[in-house]
Amino acid sequence: MSDDYCAAPAAPTPAPDPTDAGPPFAECVLCRKPTEYPESYKGITLCPVCEWQEAQRTACSG
Ligand SMILES: [Zn+2]
Repeated sequence: MSDDYCAAPAAPTPAPDPTDAGPPFAECVLCRKPTEYPESYKGITLCPVCEWQEAQRTACSG
C-alpha cells in the first residue's frame, strides 16, 4: 500500500499579457477619450465619465 499519492502540482495560471494592441475603441463624442464601445458601434459613444454626467443631467432635468 503506497501512501505517496499526491496530485500533480497545478500548472501556474498564465498571467494575461498586457498588450496595448487591443481592439479599436470609439472615442467619446464629448471629450475624445477612448470609450468601452467598439469603433463599429453605431450611435453616440460616451466615455464612462461623460456617460455618468449625461445620466446625471437626464436624471435632474424635469
Ligand atoms: Zn467623455
